[in-house]
Amino acid sequence: ADLAMADAKQKGRNIWHWYQGNERQITEASVLLRHDLHTALHDDQFELYYQPIVEAASGRICGLEALIRWHHPEKGMISPGVFIPLAEQTGQIIPLGRWILRRVCQDAAAMQMTGERVVPVAVNISSLQFRRTGFLEDVQQALHASGLPPEYLELEVTESVLLDGAEQAIELIDHLKALGIKVALDDFGTGFSSLSYLRDLPIHKVKLDRAFIKDITTNRRDAAIVQGIIDMAHHLDLVVVAEGIEERAQQQDLSQRNCDLLQGFLFAKPMPRGAVMGLPDRLPET
Ligand code: C2E
Ligand code: MG
Ligand code: MG
Ligand code: MG
Repeated sequence: ADLAMADAKQKGRNIWHWYQGNERQITEASVLLRHDLHTALHDDQFELYYQPIVEAASGRICGLEALIRWHHPEKGMISPGVFIPLAEQTGQIIPLGRWILRRVCQDAAAMQMTGERVVPVAVNISSLQFRRTGFLEDVQQALHASGLPPEYLELEVTESVLLDGAEQAIELIDHLKALGIKVALDDFGTGFSSLSYLRDLPIHKVKLDRAFIKDITTNRRDAAIVQGIIDMAHHLDLVVVAEGIEERAQQQDLSQRNCDLLQGFLFAKPMPRGAVMGLPDRLPET
């Protein structure tokens, strides 16, 4: 219940940010958006963007994260931070999530085939989607339909996959692992993240939330926590990614701290698949 509450609060904050209205206006706007979500999938209003993930030491692009975008016919581009929570409330996240999986696998397979970019692609999975019966079959279908080798698919989940208890999540991640699909724990360090998740979940990667990275070069306490997580994760044989790198100094700091991978606007913003092709092999360009 606590987790659900924190989740709801965070969603509320996202919506608040975006609408900048009073509570009634926010509620009305949410109702309208929820309604629009229903037609959006049929009207092809969603697009997947891709953001590079680089090796900290070299800047070499070694992965992509798929991030959904909604081109609303009247309201313009709407952030997933706003509409994913709404889609979760209406249940739309299930068909939308399935569509995302299929599209990302298609894109990734095509990028491999053409040699545009042969790196694993990560997809964010809503906990509702992850915890639903049939998720494993959805993943297998998306792989099968696209011909993408499972080693090139990565799933990003958050701690809320544990809402029904750890056993189911562990079992599912084990299954995915057996298929060759890797699972990353996203937004680590925020919410109710607990060290037992790192211990118990058979994940292969943790993504440190931007909240800890933002002030890393000036705040000793943030730096200490990040260093601690990196060292601990390495002792657990986990790969560590830092999110939200915007400055050179952060890149340097985190490479010195032995963080494996970095992601952020310093290297590249999320972009349409067509633009990924034009990126150099190493980022940022010097
Ligand atoms: P996330 O998975 O933690 O994704 C990282 C977010 O940080 C993305 O926001 C990305 O654009 C942003 N970001 C990357 N680098 C920087 C940086 O240097 N500075 C700053 N300020 N931000 C940076 P985005 O695309 O708006 O997505 C927000 C969240 O929405 C995601 O957080 C994820 O939880 C969710 N989301 C996005 N796409 C999907 C999707 O396809 N399916 C599901 N279920 N959720 C998604
Ligand atoms: Mg993510
Ligand atoms: Mg994240
Ligand atoms: Mg997030």
